[in-house]
Amino acid sequence: MRTVDLRSDTVTLPPPAMREAMRRASLGDDVYGEDPTVRALEELAAEITGKEAALLVASGTMGNLVAILTHCGRGDEVILGDQCHTFLYEAGGIAALGGIHPHPIRNEPDGTIPLERIGAAIRPGNVHFPRSRLICLENTHNRCWGSPLSPEYTQAVAELAHQHGLAVHLDGARIFNAAVALGVEVRELTTPADSVTFCLSKGLAAPVGSVICGERGFIEEARRVRKMVGGGMRQAGIIAACGLVALRTMIPRLAEDHENARLLAQGIADIEGLEIEPDRVRTNILYFDLVRGDPEAFHYWARAKGVLFHRTGPRRFRLVTHYGITRPDIDYALAILAEAAGKLL
Ligand SMILES: *Cc1c(COP(=O)(O)O)cnc(C)c1O
Repeated sequence: MRTVDLRSDTVTLPPPAMREAMRRASLGDDVYGEDPTVRALEELAAEITGKEAALLVASGTMGNLVAILTHCGRGDEVILGDQCHTFLYEAGGIAALGGIHPHPIRNEPDGTIPLERIGAAIRPGNVHFPRSRLICLENTHNRCWGSPLSPEYTQAVAELAHQHGLAVHLDGARIFNAAVALGVEVRELTTPADSVTFCLSKGLAAPVGSVICGERGFIEEARRVRKMVGGGMRQAGIIAACGLVALRTMIPRLAEDHENARLLAQGIADIEGLEIEPDRVRTNILYFDLVRGDPEAFHYWARAKGVLFHRTGPRRFRLVTHYGITRPDIDYALAILAEAAGKLL
């Protein structure tokens, strides 16, 4: 049976060039700093993001955790969006492992948080309060339809943070989707932040890995924290080799995923029984609602026909396009969604 897997861009499989690069990679012990392929990846990642240094980690979750543990001590506070991945989907790691106090404030539908709202959340010096130490942003914003944050907005948040002596960490799991969608260099989105994490294993199709980028001193400390959480990997060049192919060859093609997401949204808008705001699609993530009928049955029917996606609310579903989803896959998915919705009318 045909499968069209729209659950996430994490399901992407490495293209042949990555498997070949993995096979040929020069390796060493990266905890000793001796893996040349990891070093090459870290240098390229730092250059692309306009930072001094970079650090390969096992996942985006580990990247955010290590970065935040590096910025904050126990009892320090992180101001972050109430819809952000770090607050919702990282198993509470910053609190559990770092004793770090999350201070969630409301995200707008476009993934931003108004500057006044951030300003109001920053605590004055007072014995009653935790110390506000860090602001986290997410770009693109997963729960907010993959919305990209602009360079101007990122810059404005960084200025506000720095005025108050706070740092900014950017969860840039899909920062390359943002850069492609906005038509800007990725460094325009990353230089305002003090640190950034991005994923190699989502739209860029590498099998494993994320990278933290920042100033040299920050990355040196993060390297120690990575070891502490068990993330020091030995011949990690096998992973880094794929990351190099990802950064060198996979970024421009993200535009295809965005185009496919737009086509999906337009198609869904024409299906009776489904509701979507197609104009909200900016990158590769979209959400739609089932207006009537049993969402369980709808979901089941689509899955039975090989069209996979997540349910994210009582009547809400999420679709993510990626490398491995073709134009004919979009047509097939739309046909199945129409059939599934039609059964419930
Ligand atoms: C996927 C994702 C992460 C975490 O990545 P993993 O590699 O799955 O741990 C972090 N932030 C955002 C916004 C994500 O979408």
